[in-house]
Amino acid sequence: MLFEPKAVNFPSPAAGNRPPAWRLGLGLVWPATCAGCGAPDVQLCEPCRRVVSGPAFFEPMVGWPPGWGVWGVTAYGGTSARLVVSWKERGRHDLTWPFGAGLAAAVLACRQASAAPPEPWLLVPVPSTSAARRKRGGNLVAALAHRAVRCGGSVWAAGGHGAPPSVAEILTHRRDVQDQGELSGRARRKNLAGALAVRPGLRFPLLQRGCVIVDDVVTTGATVAEAARALTSAGARVVGVCGLTVALRRQGVSTSE
Ligand SMILES: [Zn+2]
Repeated sequence: MLFEPKAVNFPSPAAGNRPPAWRLGLGLVWPATCAGCGAPDVQLCEPCRRVVSGPAFFEPMVGWPPGWGVWGVTAYGGTSARLVVSWKERGRHDLTWPFGAGLAAAVLACRQASAAPPEPWLLVPVPSTSAARRKRGGNLVAALAHRAVRCGGSVWAAGGHGAPPSVAEILTHRRDVQDQGELSGRARRKNLAGALAVRPGLRFPLLQRGCVIVDDVVTTGATVAEAARALTSAGARVVGVCGLTVALRRQGVSTSE
């Protein structure tokens, strides 16, 4: 195994990892409930926050080259699934803050386990379809990556891991695809085969930087594998994959693959 699993605890959420006061104050107008458990008068209770705070873990992916897998923050299911659904489908975009802090832990763990030179990495979010962007008001995965950089910047700099990463929204769809959530594992791979590409004119900088692919939910790995193919074919060097939630086969989570 190229990467050894290594637990990394990210610092507990500080003021900078929480939504700003004005956003929290919206709860005075629209009473909040915890997106994970429904507890009243709180947007995310501490037990549910801990679910998406790490420590990060490494999950090998079936069918990927030996040693390759995903650094994740939490297993998909239960509280984490309710949080992600609230975030993606019910407008709870305030969860980008705690999710970003969790993802930063995964990126840091990926970095610590990597033998790559201490160059500044690029976090490359998987692109959302135009339909998803219209439905959700933007690319939530890109927002998650930007938040992770902001949450982890100081920790990254202080930890001797080289320059902090930056976000590069360089992948795009070159044809229409179905929503992956509606498909089985085999159908997901077929749906996405050759569907992603690096935006024209953005190839040269990729040759200089290690790319970490970022996604919110990694289930079969089909999406991030297609992202890796698109980046590699453009001359980029993929050094890792990080996901907020990961389906764990060792816990019996079916992925239809
Ligand atoms: Zn809760």
